Amino acid sequence: MTKRGSQDDDLVRGLTGYLETLQLAGVDAIALAVPNEWKPIPAPQPEPTQEETMPKRPTALSGRSTDVLSGRSTDVLSGRSTDVLPGRNTDAPEKIALPTEPSTKTDDFRLDLAAADRVATLRQLADQVARCNQCRELAAQRTQTVFGVGNPHSELVFLGEAPGADEDKQGIPFVGRAGKLLTDMIEKGMKLKRDDVYICNILRCRPPGNRNPAPDEAARCRPFLNATLQVIRPKYLCCLGSIAASNLLDSQETIGRLRGRVHDYQGIKVVCTYHPAYLLRNPSAKSAAWDDLKLLMREMGLPVPS
Ligand code: URA
Repeated sequence: MTKRGSQDDDLVRGLTGYLETLQLAGVDAIALAVPNEWKPIPAPQPEPTQEETMPKRPTALSGRSTDVLSGRSTDVLSGRSTDVLPGRNTDAPEKIALPTEPSTKTDDFRLDLAAADRVATLRQLADQVARCNQCRELAAQRTQTVFGVGNPHSELVFLGEAPGADEDKQGIPFVGRAGKLLTDMIEKGMKLKRDDVYICNILRCRPPGNRNPAPDEAARCRPFLNATLQVIRPKYLCCLGSIAASNLLDSQETIGRLRGRVHDYQGIKVVCTYHPAYLLRNPSAKSAAWDDLKLLMREMGLPVPS
């Protein structure tokens, strides 16, 4: 296939995926600045680097973090908290301008779509999840669904297994003892802020008694994970534990074999490590987990302590 043909295929896949995401979120119409006529495609130019084509995302210290459930957004520098969801603003909502000039560059068009309001789309997805009754047992026993938390513009997503009792009570992932350790791994280990990354789970409901998610439950919840990733479009993802890793990567390998290397999931660099709950029970595995975080940091271009 020609390069142009494969770029077109990528464009169609990207557009289709994005529109499916919006549909899943309950959006039935969108206004796009789409050209009335396609302009002739210019002769191929040298590929721009990703830095040249990517709009600057907030860096670890300049971003706002947003809880998609509450819609509260925190300015990381000032610590000032504002409400960013439509109709509830006390501050300017996060509005992302669509292009006024039609673009002839396939990649630009994809970036324009990705620039749609992530907070609002995640909020709609979270509402959809909150109404989900596909897993009868989970829906009957949950206090509430637990969608995700953090910065929807983050380059890095942490993926856990399923909410536990604390998360089910609070509606926020990783807030119990394992969550405290995860926060330390992010903040003390990686020197990032928890609010600057995005955290979610394979399942959005607590399995009774904290049992492992059943494969059919994970399969039914998967479209919500896929949609979340399509909205956030992270560059890096860290799977926490075997359930997250084997489900995401569709692998039968143990976490011990999956960890320690970089996998690819649809263009996202994936590092797998032990689940913080496992680390609490097996502190001797912490040094291996730290090696995994350092691998992730190297991939991300973050300073790694020697
Ligand atoms: N364990 C998980 O896998 N996810 C949570 O949100 C909390 C504990």
